Amino acid sequence: MNITFLGATKTVTGSNFLLEGAGKRILIDCGLYQGKAAEERENYADFSYNVQDIDFLLLTHAHIDHSGKIPKLYIDGYRNPVIAHKATCDLCSIMLPDSGHIQEMENEWQNRKRMRKGLPAMPPLYTAQDAIDCLKIFKPVQYDEIVELSPDIHVRFNDAGHMLRF
Ligand SMILES: [Zn+2]
Repeated sequence: MNITFLGATKTVTGSNFLLEGAGKRILIDCGLYQGKAAEERENYADFSYNVQDIDFLLLTHAHIDHSGKIPKLYIDGYRNPVIAHKATCDLCSIMLPDSGHIQEMENEWQNRKRMRKGLPAMPPLYTAQDAIDCLKIFKPVQYDEIVELSPDIHVRFNDAGHMLRF
């Protein structure tokens, strides 16, 4: 079993871990960097792994610094399941399109600045519609439910008390 820390090492936002073992590649969280402009630009960087090689994404909770890059992962071709607690899935169905809307608004503003400098317009990181599209691959589970990812890998979600319980 090998764990790679891909985000949230120097900053608290942008959580993203890659777990490799038993022939599977599993991502834990896929969060947006939030905060300083330099860190937020990191959001546009390519993923450091091949998105098509990822078998599962386990999402710990809905906060954008843990979930906010899932629409980009989807745009880049990820179509395997995003496994999360039912409440997390419900919250993401509101928070991710909202995040997409914010991306579009910020990008419009950035494009106006680029135009003034004679630079070409850029697409947003993702749109509200991209975020709605990515919800299709979310697979809700319950606390204490044993989820079989493969005959060798089982996961169980527990309540960590970090977010409101429903
Ligand atoms: Zn959080």
